[in-house]
Amino acid sequence: MKMEGSEGLKSFATSREQIPINSIREIMNIAENMEDVIELQIGEPSAHTPMYIREAAVKAMDEGFTHYTSNAGLVSVREAISRKMKREFDVNVPINRIIVTAGAVSALNISLLSLVESGEEVLIPDPGYPNYESLIRIQGSVPVFYPTKQENDFLPTVSDIESVITPATKAIIVNSPSNPTGAVFSEKKWKDILDLAKKHELYIISDEIYDGIIYEGSHISPLAVNPAMEDQIISIFGFSKVYAMTGWRLAYAIVPEKLFSLMGKLQEPITTCASSISQKAGEAALNGPQKFVDEMREVYRQSRDVACELLALYNFNYVKPKGAFYIPIDISTTKLNAKEFTLQLLHSEKVMVGSCDTFGPSGSNIIRICFAGDVEELKEGIKRMGQFYQKLINKHD
Ligand code: PMP
Repeated sequence: MKMEGSEGLKSFATSREQIPINSIREIMNIAENMEDVIELQIGEPSAHTPMYIREAAVKAMDEGFTHYTSNAGLVSVREAISRKMKREFDVNVPINRIIVTAGAVSALNISLLSLVESGEEVLIPDPGYPNYESLIRIQGSVPVFYPTKQENDFLPTVSDIESVITPATKAIIVNSPSNPTGAVFSEKKWKDILDLAKKHELYIISDEIYDGIIYEGSHISPLAVNPAMEDQIISIFGFSKVYAMTGWRLAYAIVPEKLFSLMGKLQEPITTCASSISQKAGEAALNGPQKFVDEMREVYRQSRDVACELLALYNFNYVKPKGAFYIPIDISTTKLNAKEFTLQLLHSEKVMVGSCDTFGPSGSNIIRICFAGDVEELKEGIKRMGQFYQKLINKHD
């Protein structure tokens, strides 16, 4: 196929056009030209990065940390990560199993590249973070959704996953706490899933980017549940959500020792290394007081509770999240799909919420609100959305 305006030229890489457009970005683009919009859709903390972390970045620049680092990242940062793994999960991770990356998306990218050949299948949650599907497609492998159902609090069952395993399946991506559902795996759930992975000899890519944002109990990492399976598990953690550092593009992966050098090699042509300045900021984040994380979690908890109370008042069909900072809401009673609901809500009430249609087939009836921003805006946004919802429902009564 020739692209318009490219007379005489070979076509662009048209197969890449299969990659779904992320609805969240699409709606952001529309709202860009509108004024006074209440923003409940983008998945990031509205808080600034804590001062002690920003100061560490300035100091790093002054001290000359302005050069490439090794592909896996600065040793001092990986040592700080190793200490975190011990402190929080009682897991021993040597630094030759730690790779620092430019955001969790980059960690996911090189994890998939290092494990999965073209044509092989990777299981991903439905609904789940849209970049799983996009990355898998970009790499020429095959995304296969496994359901996570509302009646099970959006947690997958072993049979949900097992029913989609084929001889071509190579890996399962698991995300706890989940974006967009806020579902959190118990230790029992992890044990079941790890047993399944063992039985079918599959790799687990565990996206743990919301690890510090849990409202009941604490985060359980699969590496702690079954350390003997460390050769089968890649665990990905980040700084974006927990330390309010989305713009710094910093994350890390705990990888099987045998995969370490391949993943370093893959990092070279893709990003080479994470920003040296961000790495030093991340080191300060991990080594510094964790008060910010505890305080933010309490702020999120209060916002979650306020949001859920209001949603109940307007009779929304939602699930109270146990982690992360999103609430999934099923809007099928409105007879609109998620995309239509979001667009109409934006135009008529000036409230921006996330349409989950790009989060998987089940997401076409689900919208997502993010409660990591200002609580007064959150209340006003839900109020407007509630009135809009009531009008739609009454129309169909
Ligand atoms: N995984 C999940 C589940 C996410 O929600 C996000 C960001 N929204 C990412 C990965 C990517 O995080 P990062 O900013 O570290 O690339």
